[in-house]
Amino acid sequence: MSSGGLLSNIEIGSTANIQAAREKSLNYSIFLFGALLIVGFYHLAMFLFRKNDYSSLYFGLFCLMTAVRTLMTGEGYFYTLFPNADFAYFRKIQTILFYLSAPMIVWFFSSISPDYFHEKIVDLSLYMGLIFSFLILFLPMSQFSTFNTVYQIWCLFLMLYILTRFILVLMNRKKEVYLVVFGGFVLIFATFVDIISLSVFINDSWPTAIKAFFQNDDYSSTGQLIFVIAYSLHLAKMFSDSLAYKTQMNRDLDKIVLKRTEALTMANDLVERQKVKLEKANAELEKLSTHDPLTGMWNRRKYDEVLAIEWKRCLRYSHPISVIFIDIDYFKNFNDTYGHLAGDDCLVQIADILKNSLSRSTDMAVRYGGEEFVILLPETNKNEALKTAHMLLKKIEAHGIPHSDSLVNDYVTVSIGVSSMVPSLSSSPEKLVAEADDALYQAKNKGRNQVQYS
Ligand code: GH3
Ligand code: MG
Ligand code: MG
Repeated sequence: MSSGGLLSNIEIGSTANIQAAREKSLNYSIFLFGALLIVGFYHLAMFLFRKNDYSSLYFGLFCLMTAVRTLMTGEGYFYTLFPNADFAYFRKIQTILFYLSAPMIVWFFSSISPDYFHEKIVDLSLYMGLIFSFLILFLPMSQFSTFNTVYQIWCLFLMLYILTRFILVLMNRKKEVYLVVFGGFVLIFATFVDIISLSVFINDSWPTAIKAFFQNDDYSSTGQLIFVIAYSLHLAKMFSDSLAYKTQMNRDLDKIVLKRTEALTMANDLVERQKVKLEKANAELEKLSTHDPLTGMWNRRKYDEVLAIEWKRCLRYSHPISVIFIDIDYFKNFNDTYGHLAGDDCLVQIADILKNSLSRSTDMAVRYGGEEFVILLPETNKNEALKTAHMLLKKIEAHGIPHSDSLVNDYVTVSIGVSSMVPSLSSSPEKLVAEADDALYQAKNKGRNQVQYS
């Protein structure tokens, strides 16, 4: 049994009818040829621009092979173009194109869904295609039927294999390749019909209806066209999806950037506010560490620091330095009479008098502790210091804070001890302070409300 020779049954009818049918069939195959050629070149071009996308390469080659084959099947436009050409020669080319399109389609599907295809089967499909193509080239047509049947059985196996892959893809709900799978189903069905039509299995013993169905050997071309359209739709959808995705991503990115910028600005403002707060707190802390909180005067800590510095400075230039110790008279009685709060207020008033009476920037009014104050007067000699001390004594008395329980006056008075030195290596700031303290003690002893010098 051989399937060489005519591909389809001889049709009998009026010349006009047969002519019309022939033209229709020719036009259709030329249309298929054009469509497949364009799509084929398009995908090869896509592969050129995206070399890692092998699906485009396999698909492009498949389309081109199928395009050429289309002209050789059906009414065979090639035979019209080359009426004198060797029929066997075209038949060989057509068969080789068919043989090679099998591995192309397997490779194509495996490149679309690589996880679903066994590598060995994919490779084997190419080897089989090549081996059988060589057989076609070099063996005489008389041997054709035998190995063609073998290859057709191989193709049936491949189709079954691809079908199982499709079913797996569908079961795993990989929606993105549904269109390809649909096209694949059509392609495989059409190819299956073609293989059966061209095979030795169909012979005259089959029922007429089935024979009529398998009469046409051109189903696969139409199947291929549907497959190509489905795959093109799939690609168009993928492009549009990825474009929509990118646009959405860009939009989201814009929003995120905007949000981040806002958050950053807010964070910056917060940091700026915190910085201002911190600076304020630092300034307050600095003030606390150097000032007396009740009167706002310099505190003893700062005074000790400045005294040491000024002492050295005056020592270097042999300039005089003076201190005035001030102690409120009978202040315990004041507290007892007017209360502690009034005592505090009195301390603040006296502190203000002291602060406001100093003229030079280097003069320093200090709350030494309790109701005792110190005025440090660098670059000031004894006479100037005594003058200042008397001025302060007068000012405080004249300020007239009532003090009914004072034994020296009806108003708040102070006793003042003054000391003055030109610093030398044999003396010390402690000595200066001790002398002022001593002078103050004398002022107290001699009846208070007076200035003493030591
Ligand atoms: P004199 O100095 O004239 O000898 O008599 P005095 O009563 O002032 O002497 P003393 O040193 O014994 O008393 C000091 C008083 O000053 C005792 C305390 O109640 C009062 N005092 C000390 N610090 C403060 C303060 O911060 N606020 C008030 N309200 N009173 C204070
Ligand atoms: Mg005192
Ligand atoms: Mg006192």
